[in-house]
Amino acid sequence: MSAGTGWGVALDEDFHVHSTFSDGRSTLAENVVTARARRLRTLCLVDHVRRDTAWLPEFAAAVAPYRGLPGMRVMAGVEAKVLDTSGRLDLPPRLDGIDVVLIADHQFPGDDGPVHPDRVRAAIGDGSMTEAEAIERLCAATEKALSAVDRTSLLAHLFSLLPKMGLDEAMVPGALLSDLARRAAQAGAMAEINEKWSCPAPRTVAALARAGVPLVAGSDSHHARDIGVYDSVRATATARA
Ligand SMILES: [Zn+2]
Ligand SMILES: [Zn+2]
Repeated sequence: MSAGTGWGVALDEDFHVHSTFSDGRSTLAENVVTARARRLRTLCLVDHVRRDTAWLPEFAAAVAPYRGLPGMRVMAGVEAKVLDTSGRLDLPPRLDGIDVVLIADHQFPGDDGPVHPDRVRAAIGDGSMTEAEAIERLCAATEKALSAVDRTSLLAHLFSLLPKMGLDEAMVPGALLSDLARRAAQAGAMAEINEKWSCPAPRTVAALARAGVPLVAGSDSHHARDIGVYDSVRATATARA
């Protein structure tokens, strides 16, 4: 099945599938069975990590037997949030057996660590931070995180944080977007079009594509039934804004 769309996003791949190793409801085995039944070409098994996550060797060992399956490329990924303005990621020190690091905007990267988006929304409301500052700082930290990863990285649900802070992707200045896209391309990163969070928007995707960043589809599934099922991804991938 060939399922290419605008911007070359293949809809027969899923780069963002969670399992019971973190907060998913399905096991790795259930995810693999479903992905094969749906004839996916690529399956990236991903779980949430923190600095003190201890199960990574077990996870990598559990993914390994699936790598030889005919017709489907299976990879192991970890999803880590950007912690602070220096771009530090919430990652364990050793990533043996991990192919891809998903860089995630789960919290606002503050000077001293992650800040809940509600607090940033409040800071914007009381004037102690401007909307432009919040957007600039998020972009700057994301750029720095890109250079902190020593293997393939993937910008996961880029800008999913903005609506949580009362902001919108359309408010990101074009120059900032181009800078971020260029840095991602330089770092050899990929970018995900994410089904669960319906982001990034076509304008952002277009900027990433112009810079040469490979674009991939991710369901962010937490249950096998959602693997490779794309509605918003399909809409974005065919929008070609
Ligand atoms: Zn996430
Ligand atoms: Zn995720």
